[in-house]
Amino acid sequence: MEDVSNAYEPGDDTAAGGSYAAPKTTQDPDVGRRAFRQALVDARVLYPSAVEGIYGRSGLFESIADGLNAAISKLGADQHAEVMRFPPAMPRKDFEASEYLKSFPQLAGTVHCFCGSDRDHHRLLARLEQGEDWADQQRPTDVVLAPAACYPVYPVIAARGPMSADGMVVDVLTYCFRHEPSIDPARMQMFRQREYVRLGTAEQIVAFREVWMERGRKLAGMLELPHEVDLANDPFFGRGGKIVADSQRELKLKFELLVPINDGAPPTACMSFNYHMDHFAHAWPLRTADGEPAHTGCVGFGIERLTLALLRHHGFELAKWPKRVREVLGGL
Ligand code: AMP
Ligand code: ZN
Repeated sequence: MEDVSNAYEPGDDTAAGGSYAAPKTTQDPDVGRRAFRQALVDARVLYPSAVEGIYGRSGLFESIADGLNAAISKLGADQHAEVMRFPPAMPRKDFEASEYLKSFPQLAGTVHCFCGSDRDHHRLLARLEQGEDWADQQRPTDVVLAPAACYPVYPVIAARGPMSADGMVVDVLTYCFRHEPSIDPARMQMFRQREYVRLGTAEQIVAFREVWMERGRKLAGMLELPHEVDLANDPFFGRGGKIVADSQRELKLKFELLVPINDGAPPTACMSFNYHMDHFAHAWPLRTADGEPAHTGCVGFGIERLTLALLRHHGFELAKWPKRVREVLGGL
C-alpha cells in the first residue's frame, strides 16, 4: 500500500479518520477546489502536470479505483452484460456519425500527427527550436479521443444486425477525454467512465434506468457518501445549446447522483443515468428484434470523482476508513 504518511493533516482541525478537513466557509467555490487539489498533491495522491486536469494517480488512488470497479461489477452481476474494453480512442468516422460535434465541439479532442516529408520535418524542428508554434503543421488522423465510454459500443452492436427481443447490456470502462481544463481536481481532462449500456426498446431502457438509479443510491449509501439524485443536463454548446439543454430537462433524459466534494462549491456529479431515446439509431443502424430503431441508455460511474469523494469523506488513510466501506470495495 502507498505510503500515506504525507496525508494532509490540517492542523488542529483534523477530522476523524485522517480526513481532509476543508476550509470553513468561503464565497468563492474555487477556494475549496484549490484547497482540496493542493491537499491531494501534497499527500502525493495525485501527481500534477503542467496542464490542468491531467494528473498521475498514486497506488492509493488506483487501489480505490479498482475497488470501485469491483463493487460496480458485483452490483451489475445480474445484468449478464457483454464486457467490452476499448482504448481511449475511436474512429473519426464514427465520431462524426454520433453528432458529438453538433452538441459539444468545445469538449472534443482529435488526434493529429506529423505526415510530412524530410523538408517538412526540418521546418518542424526549426520552428520548435525557435519556440514558434508548430502544431498547425500536424494533420488530423482517422482517430479521435473517446468523449464517453459508451460511444465505441454502438457501431459494434449495429454491425451485428437486429438485436434479440431482450436487447443487450454492455459493460464498458475507458479513459475519456474532455477539453475542460480546470483547477477543480474533480474536473479532469482525462478520466475513467465505467458504464452499463442498455440497448433495446424504449420500455427496456426506461426500466433499466429506474433500476440503476436505485442501485446508484444504494452504492453511494454503502460507501457512506452523502448524496442526492437530481435532474440534470449536458453542457450543450452555444446559443442553440440552451434550448437543447432545456428540452433534455423537460423530457427528463438525464439524472445525476451528486456528492459534495469541494467545500463551498456545488456538489459534484459522480454518476449519471441517461436515456438517449433513439438518437444513436440515427447515427448507426441499431435495430430491435422487429427492425425498429433501437433506443439506448446508460449508467455512467465517474471512477475518478467517486475515488475523490471517498478520499474527501473518509480521509487519505485507508486504515482509518470505516470497515464496511473497505469491505464494499473488495476488502481494501
Ligand atoms: P456524463 O457523460 O457527462 O454524464 O459523465 C458521466 C460521469 O463521468 C459523470 O457523472 C462524472 O462522474 C464523470 N465525469 C464527467 N466529466 C468529468 C470530468 N471532467 N472529470 C472527471 N469525471 C468526469
Ligand atoms: Zn454513456
